Amino acid sequence: MDNFMNLSISAKSCNEGFARSVVAAFTAPLNPTVDEINDIKTAVSEAVTNCIVHAYDHDESGIININAFLEGDTVHIAISDKGVGISDIAKARQPFFTTKGDEEDRSGLGFTVMETFMDSLDVQPNGDKGIVVTMTKAINHTEN
Ligand code: ATP
Ligand code: MG
Repeated sequence: MDNFMNLSISAKSCNEGFARSVVAAFTAPLNPTVDEINDIKTAVSEAVTNCIVHAYDHDESGIININAFLEGDTVHIAISDKGVGISDIAKARQPFFTTKGDEEDRSGLGFTVMETFMDSLDVQPNGDKGIVVTMTKAINHTEN
């Protein structure tokens, strides 16, 4: 491991931009392109938003943990909560699956976006409560 970071934040929507900027800044030593940084920011935003709206149902006393590390040319990011959890993770990951389509007009595409913008996505229970979303992205430079 070349470098790591741990961040613990309140489940407040104002922290979404903060979290994605922190992870982007942490990844900067890998010299990502603007597109790569935007992909990472978008994926982090989706995961943090899910903690706020689903895991804690807008209870701002909830805590979101973000751990990241750099290894070679790859950034590894884990975003976890201690909220309600997901009973059927495979189903939740399907495109357009949402449990808040009516009340919050959600589209069910957050996990699909994370999967598309990152190289890997893994969703697991976080012990007895909540979930951990783990994502990786290799910052590859093809000089031209
Ligand atoms: P969108 O992201 O497009 O606004 P969405 O949040 O419903 O809509 P996804 O992000 O793909 O879509 O999540 C799918 C479903 O998985 C959610 O509707 C919710 O039921 C569940 N889910 C996602 N993240 C969490 C979480 N951290 N805790 C509990 N349930 C979650
Ligand atoms: Mg979502």
